[in-house]
Amino acid sequence: MTERSCGNDAAAYALGALDASEVPAFERHLGGCAVCRDEVAEFSGVVAALPMAVAQHPLPRGLRRRVLREIRADPPAVATRRQARISAWTMERLAVAAVAAAVAVGIVVGITSGGGPRLIRASVGQATLRVSSGRADLVVDHLPPPPSHKIYELWLEHGSGPPQPSTLFSVSDADRADVGVPGNVKGLTRVLVTEEPAGGTSRPTHPPVIVAKLS
Ligand SMILES: [Zn+2]
Repeated sequence: MTERSCGNDAAAYALGALDASEVPAFERHLGGCAVCRDEVAEFSGVVAALPMAVAQHPLPRGLRRRVLREIRADPPAVATRRQARISAWTMERLAVAAVAAAVAVGIVVGITSGGGPRLIRASVGQATLRVSSGRADLVVDHLPPPPSHKIYELWLEHGSGPPQPSTLFSVSDADRADVGVPGNVKGLTRVLVTEEPAGGTSRPTHPPVIVAKLS
């Protein structure tokens, strides 16, 4: 392996774009290549930080459509990797598309209802937080059912305190969930949704798929 293909593989690996048949060889290579280990760590950090980084920025109009079109146009770049190493240029475009896709699913909806906007980021579905008379309802459309043995768990954050476990919920046949937020919204800073083992947990074990910010 040349140093250059090392670098391409690290990026593809961190983004989950490395051909499955090449993963074992690359993981063996990782054991002996500090350069690739560093690059994977760096890329993984960037990928992991993305969902939180996009929390509060509305998407430019048309971005999602453009990104999806790019990605649909690009998959052959991954599929043909077995025959020929893809160029650094292609890899870069693929990485940019993957990053943009991660941004594109961070849908931000601003809601004005009884006192200022509520910012919502949803990596799944389309979330709306309805607030009225001090009560809130989280309504999510196009929410896929949780995987088997999993459930969605609602968490409430007050001030800068840790998230408190709240309601467990699934979705209706129409892929919709309408979840009442227990209690008064006063002092509530964020409402989160995570995917958790059936029965729920006392602290989140997964990154949130929905974040609604109240203040
Ligand atoms: Zn390497």
